[in-house]
Amino acid sequence: MGTSKRGKNRVALVTVAGRRFSCLVCGQREFTSREILLNTPGLELLDLAWANRSSLGVICMACGYVHEFVGNAVEFWTTAGGYPENAT
Ligand SMILES: [Zn+2]
Repeated sequence: MGTSKRGKNRVALVTVAGRRFSCLVCGQREFTSREILLNTPGLELLDLAWANRSSLGVICMACGYVHEFVGNAVEFWTTAGGYPENAT
């Protein structure tokens, strides 16, 4: 959370748990995002109630592949500003 979320819903660079993220399909590094609602009943049984029944879709701008994440590990960075210095 915080200022790193400013790039949400625009084209942005992505880190996941502090690591630079690239598309699993085509390898490029610019993404947009949207919230994905999880309508699956019984999430509590899977110990995913903390996810508030939604996940984050990180969408590759080049090929359109949707990488889906639950939790707070994904952060967005402006393409102009680049990755944070501590990203690996
Ligand atoms: Zn891609």
